[in-house]
Amino acid sequence: MDEFDVVIVGAGPAGATAAYLCANAGLSVVVIERGQQPGSKNVSGGLIYAQIYDEIFPNFWKDAPVERTITGHSVVFLGDTAATALDYRAEASAPHYNAFSVLRAKFDPWLAAQAEAAGAMVMPGFTVDELIVENGRVCGVKAGGDELRAQVVVVAEGTRSQLLKQAGLREAYSPKDVSIGIKEIIQLPEQTITDRFQCLSADEGAAYTLVGHTGGVQGGGFIYSNRDTLSLGVVAKIDSVYKSKKQPHEILDEFKSHPFVARLIHGGEVVEYSAQTVHRGGFHLIPQLYGDGYVVAGSAARLLLNNVMTLRGMDVAVASAAAAAKAVIEASGKGDFSAAGLASYEEYFKATSVYKDMQTFKNVYPLLENDRLFSTYPDMVCAIMEDMFSVQLQPGKKGYRALRDRMKDHDVSLLNLAKDVYQIGRGVAL
Ligand SMILES: Cc1cc2nc3c(=O)[nH]c(=O)nc-3n(C[C@H](O)[C@H](O)[C@H](O)COP(=O)(O)OP(=O)(O)OC[C@H]3O[C@@H](n4cnc5c(N)ncnc54)[C@H](O)[C@@H]3O)c2cc1C
Repeated sequence: MDEFDVVIVGAGPAGATAAYLCANAGLSVVVIERGQQPGSKNVSGGLIYAQIYDEIFPNFWKDAPVERTITGHSVVFLGDTAATALDYRAEASAPHYNAFSVLRAKFDPWLAAQAEAAGAMVMPGFTVDELIVENGRVCGVKAGGDELRAQVVVVAEGTRSQLLKQAGLREAYSPKDVSIGIKEIIQLPEQTITDRFQCLSADEGAAYTLVGHTGGVQGGGFIYSNRDTLSLGVVAKIDSVYKSKKQPHEILDEFKSHPFVARLIHGGEVVEYSAQTVHRGGFHLIPQLYGDGYVVAGSAARLLLNNVMTLRGMDVAVASAAAAAKAVIEASGKGDFSAAGLASYEEYFKATSVYKDMQTFKNVYPLLENDRLFSTYPDMVCAIMEDMFSVQLQPGKKGYRALRDRMKDHDVSLLNLAKDVYQIGRGVAL
């Protein structure tokens, strides 16, 4: 039976970050990862927001396997066949390190290597089967028939997190708060991607968030440009997928068949397909983050921020893990790993910009359950644009007339529109 200061379950962004920081502080750390290597079991769009990584691993992009610097961000409404985009391009001449595209199969091993270089032991290929709990206190884990004891266990096992529930330390998470993510990696020549995404070089990339043309389910699509691949997928609320009676791959096929998407992926070869559940996140769903002998970080704690424009799980995971590591290091100094000794985790997490962003966008969640946002408005917006841009035999319409006519076509009452505008305002604007 081995004994460590810290046992970490999972070598995703949360687990690897906690391992790096705790090992750097001189604690003995072991990370147990069920994948054959870190990242091999992970599904993600792969867009990372750099700020928190840069705080922990200064200038990480010089060394880490990032794909492209994301200089273009677009939100695209997909009508039946047309598309309307809100398109932002960062200044081309300056370096932009706001966001990068990454492939988790390369990026997670890099993060784990940073933890190893700091002195943590990373053990891939082992699954933690259960937590060891004695007198209500977590004292270690059981993995592959072995027991590893620890002063504190960092639970960073991602969305499908079961260990704390199994041990009776938390309630079951509601399936209503879970989405399914379906993702493909599509290979294309590097120069084709650079041209199609209107980039000046292969170092630059773009990220598209797409709403509509996903079988009416509550969710959206994404397309991110990597160096010579695209990460493409749909994230949709599970109960909405169930209600639609469609299989996830059918929703993805419908999304890919839209002309806007089809143009971007034309000629590409699907080299990877994967699917995974992902929490919908939300400020109102942040759980108790610590207890006697344990802390929980990242997706295992349902931490994620979706504000329609951005889906942030990885930087949220890293920020929570950094806050957890700070509390663990302090607890080690005091020799107190009880819930009281680890309580500063919450305080440190609340001080992060990630937490404040989650708070700022806390009203976005009702909007993400508004069916009209996914099934009616994308097509209505495109129809209004068609009225604005088309020159036809019949006389043209001014904006308000086009809006009223298209509302009628799409069965949207003024009252519903007013309610939805208010919801959008509360969620993302005001
Ligand atoms: C389709 C999709 C697209 C997404 N796009 C983005 C995006 O573009 N940007 C973004 O920031 N976020 C995105 N997310 C969310 C993001 O992937 C997660 O929020 C993030 O990976 C959470 O990191 P984590 O370290 O908490 O958990 P994970 O990355 O899930 O890591 C958990 C690790 O624990 C391991 N593990 C699990 N159980 C055990 C066990 N019992 N024993 C040992 N090891 C175990 C797993 O193998 C895994 O390596 C997306 C998610 C999906 C599904």
